[in-house]
This record gives sequence, structure tokens and C-alpha cells, in this order.
Amino acid sequence: MSDARVTLAPVTDVLPAPAATSAALEVLHRVFGFESFRGRQGEVVDAVIAGGDAVVLMPTGAGKSVCFQIPALVRRGTGLVVSPLIALMHDQVDALRAVGVRAEFLNSTQSISERQEVERALLAGEVDLVYIAPERLSNDAVRGLLDRVAAGPGLSVFAIDEAHCVSQWGHDFRPDYLALADLVGRWPGVPTMALTATATDATHKELTSRLHLENAKHVVASFDRPNIQYRIVPKDDPKQQLLKLIQDEHKGDAGIVYALSRNAVEQTAAWLAARGVDAIPYHAGLDARIRAANQSRFLRDDGVVVVATIAFGMGIDKPDVRFVAHIDVPKSVEGYYQETGRAGRDGLPATAWLAYGLQDVVQQRRFIDQSVGDAAHKRKQTANLESMLALCETVGCRRRQLLAYFDQPTDHDCGNCDTCLVPVETWDGSVAAQKLLSTIVRLQRERNQRFGAGQIVDILRGKRTPRVEQHQHDELSVFGVGADISERGWRSVLRQLIAQGVVQVADDYGTLGLGALGPAVLKGEHPVRLRHDLERSSSGAGSKRAAPVAADLDESSHELFEKLRAWRAGQAKEQGVPAYVVFGDATLRALATERPQDRAALSGISGIGAAKLERYGDDVLSILAA
Ligand code: ADP
Ligand code: MG
Repeated sequence: MSDARVTLAPVTDVLPAPAATSAALEVLHRVFGFESFRGRQGEVVDAVIAGGDAVVLMPTGAGKSVCFQIPALVRRGTGLVVSPLIALMHDQVDALRAVGVRAEFLNSTQSISERQEVERALLAGEVDLVYIAPERLSNDAVRGLLDRVAAGPGLSVFAIDEAHCVSQWGHDFRPDYLALADLVGRWPGVPTMALTATATDATHKELTSRLHLENAKHVVASFDRPNIQYRIVPKDDPKQQLLKLIQDEHKGDAGIVYALSRNAVEQTAAWLAARGVDAIPYHAGLDARIRAANQSRFLRDDGVVVVATIAFGMGIDKPDVRFVAHIDVPKSVEGYYQETGRAGRDGLPATAWLAYGLQDVVQQRRFIDQSVGDAAHKRKQTANLESMLALCETVGCRRRQLLAYFDQPTDHDCGNCDTCLVPVETWDGSVAAQKLLSTIVRLQRERNQRFGAGQIVDILRGKRTPRVEQHQHDELSVFGVGADISERGWRSVLRQLIAQGVVQVADDYGTLGLGALGPAVLKGEHPVRLRHDLERSSSGAGSKRAAPVAADLDESSHELFEKLRAWRAGQAKEQGVPAYVVFGDATLRALATERPQDRAALSGISGIGAAKLERYGDDVLSILAA
């Protein structure tokens, strides 16, 4: 890190001018059609308009874009936005143009003449916001161009979106982001902003120091996403469970299904498609053209389900993803939170659903064992997995546990997760645990053998399989001591004992050994509480269900909503933009329930600013009047 950096005045020295607030609000109303700032947006916007730097940690869907877009529109000059995903820049720019903002992008997909036109417009001061790929900023010619813009029509703000990409320890590290550090402070008087949805303190610290933003205003918002309903269910037949979730609760909705392997991605997508779901695969092994086409279909068409590996999702701004489903357990709570966070960015109800089973635990342990990396790295991965398993097995409120993980403890249960909606019953599993541990111990002591879950459950249940007979395991004193618990029951017990550290997956083959707490449990010194895996409907819907966006509307509003949706699809197709660029679901919902009858009333609907009123006002009014 260079010591010769320019330190900007701490923002706390600059009182936000009331004039800035009203100019910001005016732009928020007129351009975006939003009534008020959400959460801490206003605070950030004021600080940046006053000339200060800002580091902004807000969850996905909180509205980080507004935090830099408004200052860019209020301050003199062009706002420079670094965004890592070229494939998505186009949509970001389209969405801005749709509200009348003069937006451009600069990336490697452009022809020379397109680039020259953007450069001309920049130097002429005709651009409100320019999106740029990080690698372009290492280019001397581009830096020179920006210097001339700064000296001429001006740069209003330098915003680094997805700023966690600068973190070398994160999942999304981009070397090009490191080079951004020497641009910070290059244009005196131009506020720098770093924005990310990453919630961990470690990433916050790392990006702050790498980007020299120690003196910036730091805004860490609440990471709660109250509209997301968290549900984690025992895995029986994940494809069937998933299909049930989609059919019962998310028919025709856009969704993302995460699976661990490319193979599982392709199979699941094909299986769903054969059952009438509009499902398509996405993973890094697909041909680049197919990948781009599938991503674009997901973004543009209504109600597409993409089945993907975790390679999919960062920077996807689609606001109306109604569910995110995991059919394999994620490697960490951080990953789970980021992936589920892609649901419900528009603030409307959405579901985060995970099916989780014994096999997941065994497989993840195996991945860690086999991974290259030193002991410290493996310990970190193990700790990550353990936190994730604890979230899966908790009998308490999932949201409380999630927020506590991110150091944002709350003192009340959320009422919108499965454990709140259908409280989990627990039972004293101490004796069952002792039976299971004795089996492991006897195999080791008497036979010098280690086995995996299948064989141990067969021994406990007293099942004379060929393998049991081959090893004469029916002669063990523990043979059949657990016949009172079903096979499914034992798998549930075992899964929970592994999660609690009572049993350990000992090696690559998934054989079992005693965990750290094993000896104490065997001696009766540590009681074990287990949850009853409810034999509820297999998608775990419980008694209440997440409402599809329009399901709770009365019949006539629902009909109107569907009419508006069909009209929107036509508009989107005609213009070649995603449907949400025309209007978001939240706006359609408000139109269908409030039914404004004239332009004045129409402009009071959230999401309808001046440009959209002009463009679509007559169409919408005539649909509403029909
Ligand atoms: P983030 O980048 O934080 O994930 P976005 O900037 O993509 O979130 O915004 C998420 C959604 O919230 C968008 O659909 C956006 O239009 C909407 N939004 C942002 N700010 C407001 C606001 N003040 N009022 C209403 N909707 C808002
Ligand atoms: Mg964003």
C-alpha cells in the first residue's frame, strides 16, 4: 500500500447541507418515482453530495445503486461507476435510460466507434453516469480520458460497486479491483464510494484498507431481509420436494435453484423442464454462448427458473426473483446468505428454501479433507461448515441465528421462518446417541473397523443385509438395539449428532468416529437434545405459506395485475429489455390495487417517475379504465 496517499477530510467535518437533502429528494421523486429514501440511503447520499467518501455495507436489495446514482445526478459532472460484470452492464444502463438518465458504459464488448462516441459524449459533459469494467481502468488511455473529464465537465462521484471483489480471501476476488486503489484520491474533490452486500467484518476491514477509505463515512445497515421467509427441510427426495415447492407456492415465478455439481445442475434442470417448469441450466462448464443466452432469458422473460452452481448470481439485479432453493447445503453461512439474498430484492414476499440431509454433511466434510490447502485453511473451512450446519439444525428462529452470525443480534423471533411458523419439537436423544456411539466404538475396539452411516444404521436396526452377514456384524452386542427407530429416524439422529460435534466424519470414505463431545455423551455427562424432523408436507410449507406476489389480491385486482403483466411483457419484448426495466412487480401491484385514474394519481405510484409517466402513462391508464 502506498503511503503517499491523499487523505480527504473526514466527512464528519462537513455538515450535510439541508439543500442537498431536498435536491436529492427531488431527484428521487422525479427520476425514480420513489417516495422516500429507504433505510440509510439518505444518510449516505447526503454525505456524498457534501463531498465526502463513503463505505456502504447494505444487504442485497437494500438499494445501493440509489446511493451513488442520486449524488451523480445532483453533483456537477459524470458519475463513474465500476461494476465487475460486463454481461450485466447493459441492463443497468438500460434501466437508467428507461428513467431518463443519460447513462453509458465502457467495456471490451464495444466497437471502436462505439467507444469513441462515448468518449466524445463524456468530454462534452453529456453523460450523467458511465459504467466501466475494472480492467478498463488499468488502461492509461482510459485514465487519461477520465483525467480530461475531471478537469473539464467534471466527475461527480467515483463509485466502486461490488467492492468486496478487492478482497483476496473472498469468493469473488478480481485482481483488477486491486488496481483501483491508486485511483482513489487521483481526482481531488471527487468523492469515492465503495459498496458491497458482504456482511462480514473481515471483508469490511480489508476493503477499507485496500481502497484507503479509513476516513470515509462508514454505513453498515441491518442485514435483515424481513421479506425473505427462511425454510430448511430434511432432504428426502430433493427433486420431488423442489417440484412441490414450485407447484404449490411458486407457479410461474422466477427462481434460482442452487446445486453443488454441474451434473446435478443439468439433471435437475432437465427433470424440472420435463415436468412443465420453465427451467434452464447455468454453470461455468457450459458453452459461453449458451450460458449468456440462458442468463439473458432468466433476466428478460417472466417466470424462468435457473438451476445453477454458485457461479451464477453476483450482480444479477433482477428484482423479482421469488424464490431461491438450495438442493445441497452451502459451504458457509456467508455463502448461504449471499445466495438466498438474491430473492425478493423488490421487497415483496420471497422464499429461501434449503433441503439438507446426512449425505450433504458427509460430502462437505470429504471436500474439506480433499481440498488442497494448509491446516489453517481447513480449520477455517470446517468452522464455516459447522456454522452452516448449526443453522440447519437450530430449533430456534433462523433469522436470529443468521443475524447473530453477522454480529447483529436481535432480541425477538422473526415470525417468518419455518421454526417460528411451525415450532420444532425436541426430544431427549441421549440414549439414542449412546447406542450409536457404542456401535462405532465396538466396531473399532472389537473389530478394528470403521464404517459409514449405512452400515451403522443397519446394525442398529438389526437388519441382516449381505454386508452385515459378510462381516458377522449380527454377532455384535449392539446388533438390533435401535430397532425402535426407523431408518429415516436414525439418519436424522446421525445428521444432528454430526452437526453437534458428537459424531465425526473421520475420513474421505465417510466413515464415522467419535467427535469431540462423543466421550462425554457416552458417559452420560452431556445430554443430547434432538429435533423431531416433522413428517410435514415434504416441501416444509408448514401452516403458512409465502404469498406469491399477487395471490393475496382480491379477484378483480388479481385479474388486473395479470393484464398489466401481459402488457409489460409485450413492452419488454418490443424494446429488448428485461420486464423489470419497464415496471417492477411492486409497481404493478400498486397499480392493480390503487387503480389511479389520472396522470396525477399515477405519478404518486412508487416506481413511476417523470420519464415513465410520459412514456407509459396513457397505456396504463387505458388498461386501468377498461
Ligand atoms: P442493491 O444493489 O443494494 O442490491 P438495488 O440498487 O439493485 O439494490 O435496488 C433494489 C431494488 O430496490 C430496486 O428494484 C430499486 O429500484 C428499489 N429501490 C431502491 N431504493 C428505493 C427506494 N428508496 N424506494 C423504493 N424502491 C427502491
Ligand atoms: Mg447492486
